[in-house]
Amino acid sequence: MEQNNSLSYIINELGEDYEQYFRAVAPPIVQTSNFSFKTVADLRNAFADEYSSWIYSRGLNPTVKILSEKLAALDGAEDCLVFNSGAAAIFAAVLANVKSGDHIVSVAGVYTWARKMFEEILPRFGVTHTYIDGTQLQHWENAIKPNTRLFYLESPNSWTYELQDLTAVATLAKQHQIITVIDNSYCTPIYQQPITMGIDISLQSATKYISGHSDVVAGVLSSNRAMIQRIFNSEYMNIGSGIQPFNAWLLLRGLRTLPMRLAHISQSTQRVIDYLKTESMVASVIFPFDAGFSQYNLAKQQMKGACGLLTIVLHPVRIEVIELFCNALQHIKMAVSWGGYESLIIPRCAGMPHNAYDVMNAEHRMLRLYVGLEEPEYLIADLQQAFLKAVAPAH
Ligand SMILES: *Cc1c(COP(=O)(O)O)cnc(C)c1O
Repeated sequence: MEQNNSLSYIINELGEDYEQYFRAVAPPIVQTSNFSFKTVADLRNAFADEYSSWIYSRGLNPTVKILSEKLAALDGAEDCLVFNSGAAAIFAAVLANVKSGDHIVSVAGVYTWARKMFEEILPRFGVTHTYIDGTQLQHWENAIKPNTRLFYLESPNSWTYELQDLTAVATLAKQHQIITVIDNSYCTPIYQQPITMGIDISLQSATKYISGHSDVVAGVLSSNRAMIQRIFNSEYMNIGSGIQPFNAWLLLRGLRTLPMRLAHISQSTQRVIDYLKTESMVASVIFPFDAGFSQYNLAKQQMKGACGLLTIVLHPVRIEVIELFCNALQHIKMAVSWGGYESLIIPRCAGMPHNAYDVMNAEHRMLRLYVGLEEPEYLIADLQQAFLKAVAPAH
């Protein structure tokens, strides 16, 4: 089969060896824990290189292999590992690259479970960290210590969407022999390919857009082959949280429609934002591809698109008004996560005790909206009626 880097080839054909399974169009779910051998010599050869042998499904599995070839190619990487969650991918990427006495520089406001790892787990093993505002290259440079081993990026993040200049941070890191790891969940490799910009490890929660149907929890970690082989033979096999064949199959199914789902969502998100800006209760909308966004030029330069996640900042209102608004939504669901077919909302004030709400703190008045696959008119009508109910509650 001719090698080809087009998106359609990667998604529709790469890694699929139809002759192995009756020329079935949909690949099989190889639901097996282990693989058998005909001779001792075959077994010995496999043991010598578990990274490229079918031995046991905590390591390599054929359904997972089809998926990982596609995901690595989408990232522009040599290889990747697929985990049972994005959090596991984060943990393996960092654990594999630090030892006792090392120091990590991370963007502030990172994903919750990256933060918990930095603050609660790694200090027990003598690994320290410094959080910085990653928007300025100088902040990265200033934070480097003699023992800094790893830069942790998340661009954009998933509430306020701050970006890092990936090429510049990667170049700085290389000058100091520092490994760079990025959480690329927001963009997916369709909208941003950090590896091609010099970042060492790109990871994402596949729970979000790769699955796209809110029915799988999974994560992907891409890098060069030496790095992936090293992580496979250590953290991946040891943590034992590689993806299971059925979930890998669901991700393959999700991948088939990834580009068109993203294209649809990017268009409808813009429509929803245009509407939100006309609502009197809305003070601002934070979204990386909005012309008013503080790093709009950088976003346009390093991202091919922006996804369906945005943040609404309300004008100063009582917490009861925010609660009325959210409770009044009839189609947009209140739930964590995003990237699926269904639109979702979370108010920031749900993450704090009721009496901690400070009306003058803009962060407390934030609502994170995820625009799913619905028609934009359908979502706008739902938002509109909820805003009406929040302003003039029925008695
Ligand atoms: C959801 C998410 C994760 C964690 O992924 P899981 O699949 O839930 O473990 C990591 N980073 C970001 C930005 C996320 O949104």
